[in-house]
Amino acid sequence: MKQQQIAQIQLAAESWNPRQVLAWAFGKFGNEVAISSAFGAEGMALIDMASRVQKDFRLFTIDTEFLFPETYNLMDRIEARYGITIEKVYSLLPPEEQERAHGAALWARNPDQCCNLRKVEPLRRKLGELRAWIASIRRDQTSVRAGAQKIEWDEKFGLVKVNPLADWSSAQVWRYIREHDVPYNALHDQNYPSIGCTHCTRAVKSGEDARAGRWPGFAKTECGLHIIEPAASLPKIVA
Ligand code: SF4
Repeated sequence: MKQQQIAQIQLAAESWNPRQVLAWAFGKFGNEVAISSAFGAEGMALIDMASRVQKDFRLFTIDTEFLFPETYNLMDRIEARYGITIEKVYSLLPPEEQERAHGAALWARNPDQCCNLRKVEPLRRKLGELRAWIASIRRDQTSVRAGAQKIEWDEKFGLVKVNPLADWSSAQVWRYIREHDVPYNALHDQNYPSIGCTHCTRAVKSGEDARAGRWPGFAKTECGLHIIEPAASLPKIVA
């Protein structure tokens, strides 16, 4: 697949629904494409859709080892319901080694460094074995995500990125979850609209933004997985 073809397919894909985008990705990249998920509401809707497009799709998660028990419980339910094994990717530094190397509670002093160690580096390693990855980001979640295309070249990690839910709203996601009885994280029912690590996630108060509970006390809104790097020359994608 060449660079111009990405541009062409990008335009066409804007009118596709999420299942059509998923079908294109599975057809194009076979076993070299995988869904990346932290199992938020969007991720759960996407996983359910994927299971209806292709039974044995690949799904991976970055397990920071600081996740909520409810999130680990949800992973078990996903594997049972969809008959798949979640590929779990870990930091090269177990939590105790991170503490030895960088001091206690790095997340409270330098969350960017902590996210780099526990999320970005493991993701980069995982993406190195793929030609495309599928994420469940929506354009209206953060300003960084507003420019996401349904199919795009991921400059930061050097492969194709597929965002089937780019133009969906939160209401559409939740309607899908209810209509298809999709499992979801129990914390969503306790005012946690966005769920990450235990150290950096709190419930939101009435009227707060859905991501206000992530990294409270910091200006940070993204862990770095979906931040778009300034465009250099687009590399070639070889079919
Ligand atoms: S969300 Fe918090 S605890 Fe998790 S990797 Fe990032 S800074 Fe560390």
